[in-house]
Amino acid sequence: MQKTRILWFALCLALLSALLPFCSAAEAPEALRLPIVMYHHISRDPAQWGTYVVSEAEFERDLQWLRAHGYETVSVRNLLDWEAGRFNMPEKPCMITLDDGPRSTMAYAEPLLAKYGFCGVSAVIGSVCQKFSDNGEADDELSSLSWEAAREMAERGTVEVICHTWDMHSLSPRRGCSRMEGESESAYRAALTRDLSRFLTEADAHGVLLAPAIAYPYGAFSRATTSAARDFGFQAAFTCEEKVNMLDRSEGELLRLGRFNRPHGAAGEKIFRIWEENC
Ligand SMILES: [Zn+2]
Repeated sequence: MQKTRILWFALCLALLSALLPFCSAAEAPEALRLPIVMYHHISRDPAQWGTYVVSEAEFERDLQWLRAHGYETVSVRNLLDWEAGRFNMPEKPCMITLDDGPRSTMAYAEPLLAKYGFCGVSAVIGSVCQKFSDNGEADDELSSLSWEAAREMAERGTVEVICHTWDMHSLSPRRGCSRMEGESESAYRAALTRDLSRFLTEADAHGVLLAPAIAYPYGAFSRATTSAARDFGFQAAFTCEEKVNMLDRSEGELLRLGRFNRPHGAAGEKIFRIWEENC
């Protein structure tokens, strides 16, 4: 009798251990699909349209398409809250980012985003905000955001403002804020520290409420960039790798978010079809 009981116990234990991996697999949360689109300038002038400039009508059609296909936009802060378990993502989340801080972000994109109940993320270059604060130019087609315009936009809340470096938006001597060939780790770190410190100091001095994220110019970064960005308090980083993000709250995943550039023209619409194909 004792022997039979032990045998039964052993059998149950074996069955349980065989089933356990399936149970835990079923309970494991599914990865979050987060596609992100990247715009730059929006213009009403057809002569401007191209790889990095879409028309205002095109931008609105994209928003209509996203809404018709059930997408809801999330902000950087929503994403960080989700990562921390404090925010429930909508069924089909996406992010709309607008790089380089042209005035069209505020003049054209912001009202349209608000009209459709969407939000966006504007990555501004500090030295450019400074230039347009100094020269006072405020042409919606030709100028960039001043610090004051960036501050007002961030306060309204439809478009968050994030860092696109102070002055590392060039391809020479380094590609964006990545490490140069042959540059020592300490020299690179010092250059990055100078740039990011200046950005954060000036944004703060001008009262710009930043979301804690950075968009790497040209999507270029090195391993040391990620750790420096983290040390500066950036909790999310946008690259230009064209991929739909599959997020599972793993360490550092928000510091290499992929995005799809949306160029002008019908060909540009194919990025949204890619989002749907992999759904
Ligand atoms: Zn840029």
